[in-house]
Amino acid sequence: MKTFPMFLQMAGRRVVIVGGGEQAAQKARLILKTEARIDVLAPSLEEELADLAAAGRVHHDAGPISAAHFADTSLVFVATGCAGADGALHALAKAAGTTVNVVDRPDLCDAITPSIVDRDPVVVAIGTEGTAPVLARQIKTRMEQALEPRLGDLAALAGRLRSSAAQRLGPRARRDLWRWVFNDAPRAVHAGGAEREAAQLIKDAIRTGDFGAKAGGSVALVGAGPGAADLITLRAVQRLQEADVIFYDRLVDPEVLELARRDAERVYVGKAPGCHAWPQERITAMLVATARQGKRVVRLKSGDPGVFGRAAEELEALKGADIPVEIVPGVTSASGAAAAAGEVLTERGKVDTLVLTTGHSEIRPEAPEWFDRLVPGTRVALYMAVRAAGDVSRLLASAPQADRIEICVVANAQTEHQQVVTCTPRALPTCLERHGITDTAIIFVTLPKTAAVAPLKQIA
Ligand code: SAH
Repeated sequence: MKTFPMFLQMAGRRVVIVGGGEQAAQKARLILKTEARIDVLAPSLEEELADLAAAGRVHHDAGPISAAHFADTSLVFVATGCAGADGALHALAKAAGTTVNVVDRPDLCDAITPSIVDRDPVVVAIGTEGTAPVLARQIKTRMEQALEPRLGDLAALAGRLRSSAAQRLGPRARRDLWRWVFNDAPRAVHAGGAEREAAQLIKDAIRTGDFGAKAGGSVALVGAGPGAADLITLRAVQRLQEADVIFYDRLVDPEVLELARRDAERVYVGKAPGCHAWPQERITAMLVATARQGKRVVRLKSGDPGVFGRAAEELEALKGADIPVEIVPGVTSASGAAAAAGEVLTERGKVDTLVLTTGHSEIRPEAPEWFDRLVPGTRVALYMAVRAAGDVSRLLASAPQADRIEICVVANAQTEHQQVVTCTPRALPTCLERHGITDTAIIFVTLPKTAAVAPLKQIA
């Protein structure tokens, strides 16, 4: 190791930042997380630093810099943006015997700042000694996923309960206690947002010396996003890592399942279009039965669980069975598809109404309801509509505004098989055929606002 990681004491200490530009602001942002006093030495400050100075969060000194400025400092950052000045200031700070970091000059650094994962008071510092910053960022992303946002609060709570545990329990029992706290029910309950319950569990355990309490069974209806594994939310990853059993759908990316604990049971309940491998009632019954065994269950659905995911039936059954249930939202495929096409879903002046609907309908009326809603300024995102494309095409081609309707189809959005095609309403079926789009796609139907939209009549 050419460098050695240490955590510097910051409370009540002084940090000096020399420079008033963006790089200096970056360092200030970092040090503002600590309890150090920050002095910024620079003739003038960029906006953010100026605001911080005005708010009294950093102290600004615009005068000439002397060695005295660096006396009694824990750390000095030099970031003037001028190589000559940086060198001279480094010499001045070194003469005062302090620890110096000169931005972008590793040869002039006593200390380098690591990548940080901040769950204060839990802090992870990652360094590669400058060999592989990209790797450091990848590790950081992994850690961000693995450590739930509330973990710091749980650690702080543990800190507050340490002396009470020390009074009642011997060293060995204490170790078992904290292992249980961070591995088991308290952490799971706390991560789910029930902080008071988690605190009560720990206090009861300290009082009784019994750390056997398990979190009861629960179900999380989790959105996996539209395709790419990195479009899943951090909360969804957390639930996957806590899960004992995962019931997942056909469109869920296998890489997403990789995010789960290795020993979690994975159950495929996928329904290929048309053939129902697992009837919905069976899935619902399994969720209830598995949670009743005390297991933590994830029901993983593509996109957002609340959009055409049959989540309502599952929710109702779980609530009816008194099983704690949580919805973890995901990026729905309409969002994923629009982004894949480089488009936005709504657009001021052109599209101000967005309709999410399904192209297949169990009771097929003459014209589906969405057709009536297709007034100027509306975009309809049709889910599960590829097989109804012929009907959609005929309907739209016969509309009075047919020549103003724009069609964009995004198939397998956010996956390696993604396709984006645009066409006229009449050409939709042939277009899908030509591109071999037979299944997973969103069909966007847009009727833009007319150029001259009549203003709202003033009410007399
Ligand atoms: N809950 C999901 C929708 C499930 S219904 C969500 O919020 O996205 C299944 C339909 O979603 C498919 O028929 C298709 O219309 C759409 N879909 C799912 N993944 C998609 C993707 N990657 N690209 C385009 N459409 C997708």
